[in-house]
Amino acid sequence: MENAICNLELQVLTKIYSAKKATKKALAGVSFTLGPGLYGLLGPNGAGKSTMMNIITGNLDATSGKVLWNGKNVLRMGREFRRVLGYMPQQQNLYDSFTGRRFLLYIAALKEIPRSDAALQVQRVAELVHLSSELEKRLAAYSGGMKQRLLAAAALLGEPQILIMDEPTAGLDPKERVRLRQVLAQLAHDRIIIVATHVVSDVEHVASEILLLKEGQLVDQASPAALIEKYAPGGTLEDVYLTIFG
Ligand code: ADP
Ligand code: MG
Repeated sequence: MENAICNLELQVLTKIYSAKKATKKALAGVSFTLGPGLYGLLGPNGAGKSTMMNIITGNLDATSGKVLWNGKNVLRMGREFRRVLGYMPQQQNLYDSFTGRRFLLYIAALKEIPRSDAALQVQRVAELVHLSSELEKRLAAYSGGMKQRLLAAAALLGEPQILIMDEPTAGLDPKERVRLRQVLAQLAHDRIIIVATHVVSDVEHVASEILLLKEGQLVDQASPAALIEKYAPGGTLEDVYLTIFG
């Protein structure tokens, strides 16, 4: 994987949800290009973060626009793209009767990780999120924070080149939040990690760039320092957030 290109491009992505009578424009033409690094996708509830992530990961069709991975349309890449993708969804949908280990092995199988590697990889990702000693427990006995960390571990299986994490720190206690943040920051030097959150502190000290999403539109994309300089000189990223979304 060394020297592999690592480039994600969104081209004028739009999404309109249509129900019987009402339509909702959740994404109104979002474009950006990302190289390796940790990106904070910041915006209030309803801004369109999950919609964008679901389109990038192929769980939802865009109304128009394209997602390109190293210049190729991900829709045409199919499983070739899914193989380099790790996704941590916002919703917890876990099998309560599975143990932690069984769940991770199951995800490893879905990702087509060879059996000979799977056991070791499961061990490694579990260590990263401090779940090694909990793997024999059934998920029914996991706390919300443990489930969240298990989903993060599952997303990390297969050494994905692009990691999409939707509100990964929801339900984590402060110590676990810090730890997950540090793990992601370490992993980001040779891959793309996008962390969607409405919590500024999740990303302010670890993100190389922040993408500000407001009502389905990208307001800005820049380093935390550059955003502070531009929107709240002398302030913090929290002040930037309040200026833009307040
Ligand atoms: P975020 O993740 O930033 O909170 P979402 O992408 O979940 O935002 O939602 C963006 C907008 O689209 C919101 O107004 C939301 O109510 C709407 N929306 C999301 N999913 C659907 C859906 N399945 N049908 C209709 N509207 C939806
Ligand atoms: Mg969301």
